[in-house]
Amino acid sequence: MERADVVTLDKRHVWHPYTAMEAYIARTDPLVVVRAEGPYLEDADGTRYLDANGSWWVSTLGHRHPRLVRALVDQAASLAHTALAGITHEPASRLAAELVALAPGAQAAGIAADQRLTRVFYSDNGSTAVEVAIKMAAQYWAQNGRPQRTRFVTLSGAFHGETLGATSVGGVPAFRDVFGPLLFDVVHAPSPAEEGGWERAFAAVEQVLREHGDTVAGVILEPVLQGAAGMQVYAPEFVRAVREATRAVDTFLIADEVFTGLERTGARFACDLAGVVPDMLCLAKALSGGLLPFGATLATERVFSGFLGAKDRALYYGHSYCGNPLGAAVAREVLAVYRDEDVPGQVARKAPRVKAAFERMAATIPGVVRPRALGMVGAVDLGGGGYLANGGWRVYEAARRRGLYLRPLGDTVYISPALNIPDAALDELLHGVEACLREVAAG
Ligand SMILES: *Cc1c(COP(=O)(O)O)cnc(C)c1O
Repeated sequence: MERADVVTLDKRHVWHPYTAMEAYIARTDPLVVVRAEGPYLEDADGTRYLDANGSWWVSTLGHRHPRLVRALVDQAASLAHTALAGITHEPASRLAAELVALAPGAQAAGIAADQRLTRVFYSDNGSTAVEVAIKMAAQYWAQNGRPQRTRFVTLSGAFHGETLGATSVGGVPAFRDVFGPLLFDVVHAPSPAEEGGWERAFAAVEQVLREHGDTVAGVILEPVLQGAAGMQVYAPEFVRAVREATRAVDTFLIADEVFTGLERTGARFACDLAGVVPDMLCLAKALSGGLLPFGATLATERVFSGFLGAKDRALYYGHSYCGNPLGAAVAREVLAVYRDEDVPGQVARKAPRVKAAFERMAATIPGVVRPRALGMVGAVDLGGGGYLANGGWRVYEAARRRGLYLRPLGDTVYISPALNIPDAALDELLHGVEACLREVAAG
């Protein structure tokens, strides 16, 4: 099909996410991607674009990694899908065992057996992985003697997904305000990344737990890095302090590592940066390497035990594609590629270059402020209004002309590329971002 015909059908029928459709239909010439390989996307017109955000943070091993494609094809040849009720299969059971072995605290001594993350509940994506954790926590307390525990504590700027439960615990006003009347009540604490430091945010969390801990089903957070809030990095000490405070009142800590999980931050999990074992850990995105949607919620043995016994104590929750064999087989191969290609070592080697580049941009380009970096994520803000107000999208346009797909978060310009991005492509990316910022700053 001709490129123009794809766009015509798209504009007639496709409703795009987070998109003001009237302006899009009138003015946007979308990329029409026909192929993707490694860190690159290829448009039908032949233009190649460097994918600066790993296609919304999923493609951590680059596009179409040959081993992942092979794992997918091999699995499809024998079993593509089956329900996970009364049925199991090798990909789901082996992946669960592998995730448990990698989980925060799995190899640490001195952690009580029931505080270890030993159980895996599968779902379809990041939002559902969070939804599972919310329902697990609520039902746990409902049937284990604390039915008044129905509220969640969440952080300003938090993003936990798009379903109504995940939206309820979210803290980005643009994503939640319009749905306000439909959302359940949560307690919002300040973000530890805000001015005032993590101590101020922690004081608020601690106060809620001290005064109302009896009503709190759990605290949910994105450990160390709030992604959708604009790549806000904060001190691991905050996560550790919240872990201690939740233990003091015996409520749950839910770690949403849908974005941070699997080496993005330079540690296997961001919880590992804090030395913390949560009660539930949500995974998706990198877990299936950008091949297909797949999610998992890890829970401790204690949480799991709270669902044993009579039939009505079961977690009455499931999705059609729970534990999908294709997703599970690809996820197992993702973990194997991480090992075989030393992805942690690659990140350790490349992360300092990301950090240095973003610091240089902020130091040398007028109007570019607040450089920050963690692992393979680097970001700056276009601050101070002035000629860079609304600059995120101007940088996006400049980037597109230079063969870079660099979607901003408001006025935050960031990268979160494939973790195995080749050195030359990383150079191209960092120099490209810098050149676009200079172009826009020059007006
Ligand atoms: C992306 C994201 C989600 C939602 O994941 P989906 O797969 O898009 O539903 C949840 N939590 C965090 C931290 C995320 O970054």
